[in-house]
Amino acid sequence: VSARGSEPSAALLEHLRANLGADHVLVDPDVTARYVRDWTGRFHGEALAVVRPADTGAVAEVVRACGAAGVAVVPQGGNTGLVAGSVPARGEVVLSTERLSGVEAVDVAAGQVTASAGATLAAVQRAARAAGWDVPVDLAARDSATIGGMVATNAGGTRVLRYGSMRHNVLGAETVLGDGTVVERLSGLVKDNTGYDLTGLLCGSEGTLGVVTRARLRLVPWWPDAVAVWAAATGWDDAVALASRLRRTVDGLDGLEAVDRAGLTLVGEHGIGVPLRPVPAVGVLAVWRGRGDPPAALAETVGDRPHAVAVGEAEVARFWAPRERVTETIARVGVPHKLDVTVPLGAVGAFAADVHRVAAAHGLDAGRALVFGHLGDGNLHVNLLGLDPDDDRLDDAVLRSVAGHRGSISAEHGIGTAKARWLHLSRSPGELTAAAAIRAALDPAGIMNPRVLRPPTGPGSRAPA
Ligand SMILES: Cc1cc2nc3c(=O)[nH]c(=O)nc-3n(C[C@H](O)[C@H](O)[C@H](O)COP(=O)(O)OP(=O)(O)OC[C@H]3O[C@@H](n4cnc5c(N)ncnc54)[C@H](O)[C@@H]3O)c2cc1C
Repeated sequence: VSARGSEPSAALLEHLRANLGADHVLVDPDVTARYVRDWTGRFHGEALAVVRPADTGAVAEVVRACGAAGVAVVPQGGNTGLVAGSVPARGEVVLSTERLSGVEAVDVAAGQVTASAGATLAAVQRAARAAGWDVPVDLAARDSATIGGMVATNAGGTRVLRYGSMRHNVLGAETVLGDGTVVERLSGLVKDNTGYDLTGLLCGSEGTLGVVTRARLRLVPWWPDAVAVWAAATGWDDAVALASRLRRTVDGLDGLEAVDRAGLTLVGEHGIGVPLRPVPAVGVLAVWRGRGDPPAALAETVGDRPHAVAVGEAEVARFWAPRERVTETIARVGVPHKLDVTVPLGAVGAFAADVHRVAAAHGLDAGRALVFGHLGDGNLHVNLLGLDPDDDRLDDAVLRSVAGHRGSISAEHGIGTAKARWLHLSRSPGELTAAAAIRAALDPAGIMNPRVLRPPTGPGSRAPA
């Protein structure tokens, strides 16, 4: 599926203008530039148009019209995805959800909220907190990342160890399927065993089954008290051992993160205060949230290690900065190759050693092979700087090491187009066949993000250059 010749494309654009208004069918390359380039700057393409529908009916009309014209649709929320799933290659229609930004009144009794797909995480957090509740999923891109994008990627983030990823916290959704059908399940019932869980299927579908237009989210208490500790670890094995003890002994652990020396040094060089001196081999950030005083076990477990403690919201936010801002700091110094993987916790140390060994073999010193991530989940972000954007030999070596350790080649960012060629390392032929059948059933014309989550089959089917 691609853009057809100029006449059908012109007819499609005319139809979309008549339905959405000319102001919401963007074709000027200067205006569409920010929609056709991904957050890292590594992937970019060209769109037939960027369309901005304002409601579910208009989304359905776009999907139906594109289906009839045989033009692919790329759904796009905040465009903070890191696997090139939200940007076009050539000639697709980018469907931006930025005008679907409403957040409905919080259901205080149920502890739930319904948000439109284009609402940012930060907007939903503000609404929830004003009602004494909070969103169980949090991530550093909160000011731009949208609820629709987070459902579509099954976003993880910093609170997974306490509350799970999006899949565990989405109670229902409204979705325009690939054939233009609108399906809605927003009642928020916690117990509802009436057959297939379509909402669960949409979590992690990356825009390949349809466009999520609204989602019903479970909320959790807004905790008034917070304490954070940065503690030094001598290496990844030591960091994992510390994390394991913290998980066993501390009630209310809300975040358990780690950044290696290369990452801490880099953020320090960019003016972000790192509370540990000297910079350790691995810094571990443990965050507790609750009511009253933190459990004594937090201090006891950190023990005699070099450490620093922050108390209260403002101080804790300052402690988050070296971890949360490492991604944006890397983007300031270069265009990284990003690998977001999980390995069993027992294999974290061996995997990190593999990364540095293969990076060195490809000429990268430790300062250009950074490892950080959500330690509590065994989720490491490997960022490789100084490589040619099109040379993915080192990516290949790292992902094969992940498979060798029986890990997953994508922990939370998804597959997009950037990781599609390695999907077989994490999914069996049987699983891929089942996924293709589901896809064909919900998107019979094959127009929904066709290059995403699908191993490439020929020239031009890889991620855009
Ligand atoms: C600084 C930074 C930190 C990050 N930290 C984390 C983290 O801790 N955990 C984590 O999981 N991710 C993280 N991410 C990645 C990213 O923020 C998440 O993947 C997020 O869920 C993407 O949301 P988005 O609205 O930007 O989606 P986009 O980037 O616009 O799209 C992502 C995918 O979802 C599809 N999509 C978007 N909207 C819809 C919709 N309404 N219906 C159907 N499909 C749709 C797109 O087609 C694409 O395949 C981070 C990114 C950055 C830049």
